[in-house]
Amino acid sequence: MVKVLAILYDGGEHAVQQPKLLGTTENSLGLKPYCEEQGWEYVVTSSKEGKDSEFQKHIKEADVLITTPFHPGYLTADLIKTAKNLKLCITAGVGSDHIDLNAANERKISVLEVTGSNVVSVAEHVVMSILLLVRNFVPAHEQIMAGDWNVAAIAKDAYDLEAKVIGTLGAGRIGYRVLQRLVPFEPKELLYYDYQSLPADAEKAVNARRVEDLKEFLGQLDVLTINCPLHETTRGIINKETLSYLKKGAWIVNTARGALCVAEDVAAALESGHIAGYAGDVWAQQPAPSDHPWRSMRGPHGNGNGMVAHYSGTTLDAQQRYAAGTKKILDNWRTGSAQTPSDIIVTDGEYATKAYGQREKK
Ligand code: NAD
Repeated sequence: MVKVLAILYDGGEHAVQQPKLLGTTENSLGLKPYCEEQGWEYVVTSSKEGKDSEFQKHIKEADVLITTPFHPGYLTADLIKTAKNLKLCITAGVGSDHIDLNAANERKISVLEVTGSNVVSVAEHVVMSILLLVRNFVPAHEQIMAGDWNVAAIAKDAYDLEAKVIGTLGAGRIGYRVLQRLVPFEPKELLYYDYQSLPADAEKAVNARRVEDLKEFLGQLDVLTINCPLHETTRGIINKETLSYLKKGAWIVNTARGALCVAEDVAAALESGHIAGYAGDVWAQQPAPSDHPWRSMRGPHGNGNGMVAHYSGTTLDAQQRYAAGTKKILDNWRTGSAQTPSDIIVTDGEYATKAYGQREKK
C-alpha cells in the first residue's frame, strides 16, 4: 500500500473558523478523499522535530512526502538514509531548500514544487514591506495603539519610495513581479543581480538594469529585496561584509529564506543604524526560537523591524493554488503522466532547474 506522509502546521480553532486554511493538519490540503479513493495510507502531522517526532517515525515507510516551507519538515541527508521507500517529495508551495537536494539526488528521489503557486502573494508582501519600512509605518501604528500622538517622533524616519534605487537579488518569478509592481512608484532606478539575465523584452518592460557584480549592485541601493532560492552559494550571502557594501540607511526586505542572511550580522547592522530597516517573513529555523535576534532587533530610534511569521506565500488564495497543484503532481505520479517541467526541482539524480545554483550537468 502506498504511504503518503504530510507535514503541515496545526490550525486549531482557526482551521475550524476558516475551512479555506487548506495547508493545516486539520484540512490536510484537501487530499484525504483522494488518498482514500486510491486505497492509500495518508498520515498528516505537525510533529517534525527530533527522533521521537511523527515525521521521523513515518518517514521510514513513506513513499511520498508532502511538506510546506511554512512549517518545514527538514529532510536531512541522515533522514533520507532511513527513508527506504521514499520516491517523491512534493513541496506544497515554492522553495525546496528544506530538503537536502544533493542527498535526494544520490538516492534518485524526485523533488517537485508547485511552481508559481504563491509568487504574486509574496511579491505583494514585498511591496507592502518595502513601504512599511520606508514610511516608518510599524512604530507609527504602535504609537496610536498605545494612546500616544507624536508626529515628529515618526516623521524623522519617514521617507517616500519615489526616486529611490531599488534592487532585487534574484529576478525570477517573484523578483520580476516585485519589479513590475514597483514601476508605478517611479523609482530612480530598478536594478537586479542574477546569474540568469531577464529576457530583453521583460527587462525593457520594467526598465530594469542588470548589475553583474554583487558589491557594485549593493552599493547603489536604497532598498534591497531578496528573491533567490537558498542553496550552497546563497547561504549567508548577506553578511557583515556584504552589508558593509550597502549605503548607510538602506532598507532590506527578505521574503526568500532566512538563512540567506546571517541573523546576528543583520541585527548588528540595524542596531548600529547602518541599515534603516529589515523586514520579511522567513527565518533560518521555523518556528523561530523565542530568543531569535530578529524578534527584538530595532534601530537606534526603536524602529526598523518589519518581521512577521512565515505567511506571505500562504494567503488563502495561495493555499487553494498549492493544494490543487500538489494533487496534480500526486496524480501525475500515480498515473505515470509527465510532470509539468517547471515544477521539477530534482529528478533522476540531477537538478532540473537552473535556479538552485550554476551547476555542470553530470
Ligand atoms: P525562481 O526560480 O522563479 O527565481 C529564482 C531566481 O533566483 C532565478 O532567476 C535564479 O537564477 C536566481 N538566483 C539563484 N541563485 C542566485 C544567486 N546566487 N544570485 C543571484 N540570483 C540567484 O523562484 P521564485 O518563484 O521567484 O522564488 C524564489 C524564492 O522565494 C524561492 O526559492 C523561495 O525560497 C522563496 N519563496 C518564499 C515564499 C514565502 O512565503 N516567503 C513563497 C515562495 C517562494
